[in-house]
Amino acid sequence: MPKIVLATSNAHKLAEFQVILAPLGLELVSLSAFPPINIIEDGATFAENSYKKAAAVFKATGLPSLADDSGLAVNALDGAPGIHSARFSGVSGPDKDRANREKLLKELKNVPLEKRGAAFHCAITLIEENGSVHTFNGISPGHIAFSERGENGFGYDSLFIPEGYSESFAELSPEIKNSLSHRGRAAQKLIAYLKEQKLAKA
Ligand code: IMP
Repeated sequence: MPKIVLATSNAHKLAEFQVILAPLGLELVSLSAFPPINIIEDGATFAENSYKKAAAVFKATGLPSLADDSGLAVNALDGAPGIHSARFSGVSGPDKDRANREKLLKELKNVPLEKRGAAFHCAITLIEENGSVHTFNGISPGHIAFSERGENGFGYDSLFIPEGYSESFAELSPEIKNSLSHRGRAAQKLIAYLKEQKLAKA
């Protein structure tokens, strides 16, 4: 597998995947190397959306394609924002992530610590050169903090305290975040598959 197209225009996600997959000797190229591709993310689950993204990219490029779909499910909000995590607040553009975090804090304003449980979810779909499809899932449980903490990462990172830690994802180093994150966990399953199939360096 010489080259894999990563179906994202999110620079943070591309960087996280590059770090995670670097030891495998695979070349990850982003969508910015291709003419615009129309991707409709209207699935009901993370897995369905990751498949839709990978399938659109595979159809357009004919190259092995990789896509992830991820988000935050908050227990006290019945699993919201879930697959709608990126557009939770309705704000678009550069203020989007900040507006999403503000909305989340507002909705959890009177919710006590013991009811602030949440989990990040990630589904990664790989479509190989021959068109075969494989989906890998990862979950990172934790809880939502009462205020923002830390400068690293993106999205809801400064509000999410992973299980077993007292720091937020935005306070932890990228290496630690990758080792326990939903994306890191799904990616470990992808890596195991690629090695098993001898599609990557052992
Ligand atoms: P996607 O790009 O459709 O997968 O949307 C994922 C959304 O979920 C992002 O815009 C973030 O708001 C949130 N999200 C997913 N993964 C993470 C993460 O690792 N940290 C913080 N927020 C995340």
